[in-house]
Amino acid sequence: MNKFIIFPVSMLFFISGFTSLCAEKKLPGYTDTPIIPGQKWRVHDAKRPRPEIVKVGPSKTLGAKPPKGAVVLFDGTDTSKWSHNKWKVENGYMEVTRKSGSLQTKQKFSSIKLHIEFATPKEVKGESQGRGNSGVFLCGPYEVQVLDSWDNISYADGQCAALYGQFPPRVNACRPPGEWQTYDIEFLAPKWDEAGKLERKATVTVLHNGVKVHDKRQMIGPSGHRNVRPYKKHGPGPIQLQDHGNPTRFRNIWLVELKE
Ligand code: MG
Repeated sequence: MNKFIIFPVSMLFFISGFTSLCAEKKLPGYTDTPIIPGQKWRVHDAKRPRPEIVKVGPSKTLGAKPPKGAVVLFDGTDTSKWSHNKWKVENGYMEVTRKSGSLQTKQKFSSIKLHIEFATPKEVKGESQGRGNSGVFLCGPYEVQVLDSWDNISYADGQCAALYGQFPPRVNACRPPGEWQTYDIEFLAPKWDEAGKLERKATVTVLHNGVKVHDKRQMIGPSGHRNVRPYKKHGPGPIQLQDHGNPTRFRNIWLVELKE
């Protein structure tokens, strides 16, 4: 290549590099996933607006005592209600031990009111879905996402308090990493008639740090990653806390079974 060709070619590389540096940073999320039924967004849509951030103080239900008749799932020391005891237990909390597996309750539940406290890692590591990720699964497959969404952008339907892959929370009511946060959840289990026809979808109300972020939200189906899953008839299911590889902590977990 003679010098008359080398100069314009190198200029082209310079200009294209400069242009991509100036381009807007790509937002986390996907552009090739299915459209969520009844919505205009794709599952984990990169373009879906992120919920407005609201400033919240410590939750009023922090440290709430289980009412009479409640099922205490974790009181700070006793892990006997859970499928294994490989998570770290100290100072009144359980902490996800990477690759030890998610925790499931031995007992199965249908409709419940659940109180649970969690803290994402104080030492901030990773970004988007890699930061403080865990989850609270209800009746088996219905996930209320746990994530460090404090100064951490991810796709809207995967941020903290999202009904994962379906509904972002109404607002971002997160507390900073390392601080204790609350979920007060009312979950109405899906119902099928005798013929197997769905009569009621899984219906979820979530208060995140005392702020109502879902109000009787009807889930589209079981939670899924990058997909939409149809309902399949099932009975009571366990509560599950997800091991997503991040040392997220949980404490003061109890529920009241709702008689219907
Ligand atoms: Mg999760």
